[in-house]
Amino acid sequence: MSKKIASIRGMNDILPEQSALWQWLESRVKNVLASYGYQEIRMPVVEHTELFKRSIGEVTDIVEKEMYTFDDRNGDSLTLRPEGTASCVRACEQHGLLFNQVQRLWYLGPMFRHERPQAGRYRQFHQIGVETFGMDGPDIDAEVILLTARLWRELGLSGRVRLELNSLGSSEDRARYRDALVVYLSAHEDRLDEDSKRRLARNPLRVLDAKDAGTREVLKDAPLLTEYLSDDAREHFEGLRAILDRAGVEYQINPALVRGLDYYGKTVFEWITDDLGAQGTVCAGGRYDGLVEQLGGRSTPAVGFAMGIERLILLLEQQMPELPTPADIYVVSVAENGAEKITALMLAESLRDTLAGIRVQCHCGGGGLKAQMKKADRSGARFTLILGEDEIAAKTVSVKDMRGIIEQQQVAQAALADWLAAHFVSGEVNG
Ligand code: ATP
Ligand code: MG
Repeated sequence: MSKKIASIRGMNDILPEQSALWQWLESRVKNVLASYGYQEIRMPVVEHTELFKRSIGEVTDIVEKEMYTFDDRNGDSLTLRPEGTASCVRACEQHGLLFNQVQRLWYLGPMFRHERPQAGRYRQFHQIGVETFGMDGPDIDAEVILLTARLWRELGLSGRVRLELNSLGSSEDRARYRDALVVYLSAHEDRLDEDSKRRLARNPLRVLDAKDAGTREVLKDAPLLTEYLSDDAREHFEGLRAILDRAGVEYQINPALVRGLDYYGKTVFEWITDDLGAQGTVCAGGRYDGLVEQLGGRSTPAVGFAMGIERLILLLEQQMPELPTPADIYVVSVAENGAEKITALMLAESLRDTLAGIRVQCHCGGGGLKAQMKKADRSGARFTLILGEDEIAAKTVSVKDMRGIIEQQQVAQAALADWLAAHFVSGEVNG
């Protein structure tokens, strides 16, 4: 036998037993997004490297350490997308979706970052992202946060996530703050880690995300961005808080919340859980009014967020919701002779023709009645249809209620679809 090839570290298969939960989650998210009138956009997973360097920022963890970048056969530098915002802005600009109009968009798909794999942190992971364009008031900031709060209710996660909120001010506010921060950090430079020393020179605000304990100690007494907010930024933030207060959304203001990407300004927020250790942020976002212009478009206000699906799945697995099984009806045939098998397959086909929305699985691959009934049980089907010699001769099927509520009975094949429809619709059976 030749050597087996395994998947790449940090890039996981999602197996059938897990995909039911993914589908459950995705369908709930899609319903909530639709209820706010958001539309889907799908972007490629590969883009020009330049797009991410210019948007996320050269001196960030993502661009410095985490991107999957390679030269293609033409020698162009390409990158597997580490996040969706830059691609979304690129796509909207390229197709003229931003000029004189507002957009409320969402996307779902894989993202790639070369990080150290651990629970809740992978090299291929999935995000559901939302991006809105053309709206500059705190109303839309509030809307995207209310949308996420509704989502936690739909997923049964409300009690397990908390909201942290901050304002990063305007770019002028950040420039004034940057000066003050540089003065402070320079005075303590000898206590900073190497990365932070380098960042102090190139992108001092990024020192605020440092994980190093010594650097964090220095940061405790650093000036706060909040003290440098202009009136406009302050009013925007107060406007957002007034809406959230009125809507009863609880939050904590965290002046240290800065986010790891350079394009954010004014509102930033994170939804955090205490149930996943260090990988506690399940959803993160904010306002990025400067990004469209930075990528060559006209100045366009924008707000968005992204949530990590794997982290939400980990939370949901701890409180498993009731998941759909693959079948409502399972068809077995007792003898493996040709006529019975064909009848079984044809019967399943005709049920699919007539019973819209009802899932029919027909046993394939042989085996005795007992083994087949075990499969029927595992399929989650409410009814198993049994075709034996007697049934074939009499043109009937034996219908077995897998929950044992309705007594096993013979039903004429010609009347079967009506019988099943009546039982599924009557509410006696909830498929
Ligand atoms: P972290 O601080 O955990 O590294 P981040 O700030 O890098 O997160 P964002 O770029 O804001 O994350 O991405 C939004 C969300 O995507 C995160 O809150 C998280 O839920 C998820 N996410 C980010 N990186 C990963 C990863 N490597 N594996 C799984 N999920 C991730
Ligand atoms: Mg990260």
